[in-house]
Amino acid sequence: MHRLETLESILERLRVSIRKNGLKNSKQREEVVSVLYKSGTHLSPEEITQSIRLRDKNTSISSVYRILNFLEKERFIYTLETNKNGRRYEIAAKEHHDHIICLHCGDIIEFVDPEIEERQIQVAKKFDAKLVSHDMRLFVVCAKCLLANKD
Ligand SMILES: [Zn+2]
Ligand SMILES: [Zn+2]
Repeated sequence: MHRLETLESILERLRVSIRKNGLKNSKQREEVVSVLYKSGTHLSPEEITQSIRLRDKNTSISSVYRILNFLEKERFIYTLETNKNGRRYEIAAKEHHDHIICLHCGDIIEFVDPEIEERQIQVAKKFDAKLVSHDMRLFVVCAKCLLANKD
């Protein structure tokens, strides 16, 4: 999905929010944001830790967890609960999309269906409400896994 913001501009906002929260600036927080931004996909805390360890061997998974919680609270990243492959994270500065998740292999596919988007707005309207956001995940057995499990 298309990025809505440059990495530099996200890091700029991150520094502001770190200051606002009375925290010390840490290279690791910026590293987590960079890794997620550059990957463009949905990473597990383990994958993020591994990738940061390439540059900083002292990175621990528990500090990555703490950072992920902070970044999620401040809306720099989104959490995706995948069942099969646990919690995954993606950068928030991507165009809106929903997810198809394979229950066998854990593959994640991003999609946007304009009709579904519109219908959700209409459903909220029917209840005299204004849709603020939504979170839709389709759990599937993907084409690859269907093929592998034939016969
Ligand atoms: Zn699959
Ligand atoms: Zn996504």
